Amino acid sequence: MDEHKLGYKGNDVLQELEILTLNAKAAQELILRKILEKNHVTEYLNQFMNGSTDISAFKSQVPVVTYDVVQPYIARIAAGEPSSILCGEQIVELLRSSGTSRGEPRLMPSISEDLYRRTYLYSLIMPIMNKYIRGLGEGKAMYLLFVKAETLTNAGIPVRSVLTSYYKSPHFLHRKHDLYNKYTGPDEVILCPDSEQSMYCQLLCGLVERQHVLRLGAVFASAFLRSISFLEQHWCDLVNDIRIGQLSSNITNSTCRLATQSFLALPNPELADEIEAICSSESWKGILGKLWLNVKYIEAVLTGTMAQYIPMLEFYSDGKIPLVCTMYASSESYFGVNLRPLCSPEDVSYTILPNMAYFEFIPLEDGLKLIEDDEVVENDKLVSLVDVKVGCYYELVVTTFSGLYRYRVGDVLQVTGFYNRSPQFKFVCRRNVILTVDSDKTNEEDLHNSVTRAKKLLENRNYLLLEYTSCTDTSTVPGHYVLFWEIKSTTYEGAATPCVPLDAQLLESCCIAVEEALDYVYRRCRAHDKSVGPLEIRLVEAGAFDGLMDLLVSQGSSINQYKTPRCVESGPALKLLNSRVTGSFFSPRDPEWTV
Ligand code: AMP
Repeated sequence: MDEHKLGYKGNDVLQELEILTLNAKAAQELILRKILEKNHVTEYLNQFMNGSTDISAFKSQVPVVTYDVVQPYIARIAAGEPSSILCGEQIVELLRSSGTSRGEPRLMPSISEDLYRRTYLYSLIMPIMNKYIRGLGEGKAMYLLFVKAETLTNAGIPVRSVLTSYYKSPHFLHRKHDLYNKYTGPDEVILCPDSEQSMYCQLLCGLVERQHVLRLGAVFASAFLRSISFLEQHWCDLVNDIRIGQLSSNITNSTCRLATQSFLALPNPELADEIEAICSSESWKGILGKLWLNVKYIEAVLTGTMAQYIPMLEFYSDGKIPLVCTMYASSESYFGVNLRPLCSPEDVSYTILPNMAYFEFIPLEDGLKLIEDDEVVENDKLVSLVDVKVGCYYELVVTTFSGLYRYRVGDVLQVTGFYNRSPQFKFVCRRNVILTVDSDKTNEEDLHNSVTRAKKLLENRNYLLLEYTSCTDTSTVPGHYVLFWEIKSTTYEGAATPCVPLDAQLLESCCIAVEEALDYVYRRCRAHDKSVGPLEIRLVEAGAFDGLMDLLVSQGSSINQYKTPRCVESGPALKLLNSRVTGSFFSPRDPEWTV
């Protein structure tokens, strides 16, 4: 990627995007050729291609893989072996993705050049927005951005999240010249490792600058809503700080204090009164437009699992502020942008940028029949970027400069059309994930293993777990996992009994036992980021799951093949279970978690 291209702004970037998408096929071939030239000598590629750089050898011989195949190479590099076993360039950091493998976070290799690719995608966002909304350069953005704790591998390679990497990079920190990248939150506050202090100070700065704020947002909708709920809890303290011109003593991080104090140079009782009057109103419906009168849109990922947050955002914005999803990206690679940012979140499609990585697609037959992790994907099944078909579903596969070759990202996409020659995709779902609130992603197997562990506690007390299912409850902020459990006493001889009242302590221990058995990212979200609330078990009365089966069969499930769904998302099934709840119990503490 050309470094000087980062200097391009506005129409230049959009013209370049036209050329890129018109020549998607050539751009993809060029990318693959360059990746092979740089990486053909690696131990990984060499085993399949014998040192060749031939594209057809790549296509016929390099297998489609999941993380488990790449993980041993990454572990070796983390322990000190040279990057060249996987990648022709130095791997400078390992990006901790929200996907997990055997309970541990997945680590994605990254080379220094990757930052240019990510910055290129970011540099497109404001020129695209500017086509639809004028004057955005005249004000500021209150984007709630956070970094996460980072560690070093034994060999001294930093392990961090992709966003932490970006916010700490000169690409983000030296954006001052960019008209559109004026954020209310100072960089020192964004970089504060304590997310509560950072959130407090970012909200404070955003409130002080409320007249100048034209854009609100966060990367994911979950983080944005969490900040609004934090504001609901802390607005009195924030108003007080503004009134007296003094930052609360709860902010102990000295860099954060110093950077925020300058926003409170003088007491401002007038502003404090205005904010107090707004925040003390009984309903917070439409609060965002009242606090930030000039705001033109709210930006956050609201597609895929984040769609569950649309109603809450519509409540806080009273449906009057456009909700904008701008980009689709991951730790493995950044993928694409939304070229119609003002469309409703349900209609968002992302145009894939053919210069980010080499993209291939596994067609999903019968609409959405997913392919298991351990299933072999024949090489000749793969479809290249420009050959996907409108309306069809695919699983995304990437080959990157940094050492992922035909790697299954885990996302399922549907083609909605083409922009020039580049396809546009609707994000459908993440393969296997059934529960997610923030960056946690719990699949059926993880959930089952955790429930299996916890139910032993019941069995020790002569109870049996007859059936279970789950859902996420995002009516609380942060959202939390809910398990519906039907329990039977083994000492009672009659038909399945409603076992309530069960010992509350026993069920609370089951809640925490499930949480302790869930994966690293879940436990981090719960215990460290506080972006997921305590897990809840809702006991349901005897026969509730029979009722669920009757309902689903009446809706078309085959009685022969009926399996209890391990997650019920919404609608009549959820309503039925909730109507049979006899008791509800929450985790009494945070699960164990270490960096
Ligand atoms: P991570 O590697 O932890 O950054 O997670 C990346 C994953 O987040 C992607 O593979 C998607 O599953 C999800 N994701 C990222 N951007 C979007 C988006 N715009 N819409 C829906 N899901 C997204």
